[in-house]
Amino acid sequence: MSDINRAVKGTNDVLPEESYKWQYVEKKMLETASLFGFKEIRVPVFEHTEVFQRSVGDTTDVVQKEMYTFDDKGGRSITLRPELTAGVIRSVIENGLYNQSLPQKVCYIGGCYRYEKPQAGRLREFHQFGVECIGAAAPAADAEVISLAHSVLTNIGLDNLSLEINSIGCPTCRAEYHKALKAYFEGKKDQLCETCKERLDRNPMRILDCKSPVCGDIAKDAPVMINYLCNDCAEHFEAVKAQLDVMGIGYKVNPTIVRGLDYYTRTVFEFISGDIGAQSTVCGGGRYDGLMQQMGAPATPSLGFAMGIERLLLVLNNLNKEIGDQKPCDIYIAPMGEKAGIKAAAVCSALRKEGFIALTDICGRGLKAQMRYANKIGARFSVVLGDDELASGIIRLKDMKLGEEKEISIDSIAQCLK
Ligand code: ATP
Ligand code: MG
Repeated sequence: MSDINRAVKGTNDVLPEESYKWQYVEKKMLETASLFGFKEIRVPVFEHTEVFQRSVGDTTDVVQKEMYTFDDKGGRSITLRPELTAGVIRSVIENGLYNQSLPQKVCYIGGCYRYEKPQAGRLREFHQFGVECIGAAAPAADAEVISLAHSVLTNIGLDNLSLEINSIGCPTCRAEYHKALKAYFEGKKDQLCETCKERLDRNPMRILDCKSPVCGDIAKDAPVMINYLCNDCAEHFEAVKAQLDVMGIGYKVNPTIVRGLDYYTRTVFEFISGDIGAQSTVCGGGRYDGLMQQMGAPATPSLGFAMGIERLLLVLNNLNKEIGDQKPCDIYIAPMGEKAGIKAAAVCSALRKEGFIALTDICGRGLKAQMRYANKIGARFSVVLGDDELASGIIRLKDMKLGEEKEISIDSIAQCLK
């Protein structure tokens, strides 16, 4: 096959027979978010490259290895978004939303682009649903955002989930922790991968997130942030846990979670599915109290999460779960002849105004071929429209499943379809 007939590696088409699953899942996501007061925001697919360098952080895998970056014809460096938080925060600042009543609660659905090694649950174009809650410092905000993620996942039918949480502190306590980490890794510097050797000076915490098995092994015995939290951060984490307990949301503290993006502070969390293999993290999120300021706005404590829609669908498909349903065609009208064709189009048009899926011939096919088509698309009812029917205004409405026919007036089709 030549390139012209082949999608780019790591990209997927959602075909017409599958798209209803996406529509179902996306509707549930937006509906659940709206119950918590989140409104949808839509931001561009590409941004100035600095938006991601600044926010995601230029010592992360995403920025170092995974971004689709190019110069546009005006010589600007542009990047296809690898995630949406950065662009959303850019928009919140540019449009002054942080000056309005806080918290601002926004949610989004959109495509993301990362140059990764494609495999099940890992694509180069994938889609995220996520939320950002801007201007909420209290532990109640962490608990509410986690509870929203939990509700979304359960509402779309996922149950075999575990929630893992951790605190990665604030810049004050993290400075102490960085010293301890550096001292630990310094002793094993020779064994670290080339990228991690560089990370050692600039951002030692990133080594904990390295995908190389050797670095991973070394990281296992590294000091953990949770033992270095300052009083404020420790209190915050305890309060988040207490609220989750009260809400009945089970969790496990996992001190090794650091998340792959630099902007996180304090609470970080992941929802992990027990129903898929290696790419089992379906949702990741946390607090990013420093990000707004880092991007040029006044300090505004905030937090959010993102979930990968392809991974969620993978889990639901693996479990053979019902994922919404495809609405069938209500009626197929098969005209014989030109005059009947015009009438069929008019009847379909009236039925569609009443909300029915009504189809007719647009290929100039004979009756037999039309009925085969009506069968194939699973039409609930069919009607043949010939000269007799046009003259009398009486038609035979056929129930395609039962094979039964009923004589009715052509004007009463809508009532019979209900
Ligand atoms: P991973 O550790 O699996 O690489 P990540 O930490 O890079 O994930 P985030 O940047 O936090 O992921 O993105 C949030 C969610 O988006 C992930 O939990 C996952 O469900 C989904 N996701 C991330 N990268 C991909 C990808 N390349 N293909 C499909 N889904 C992805
Ligand atoms: Mg990743």
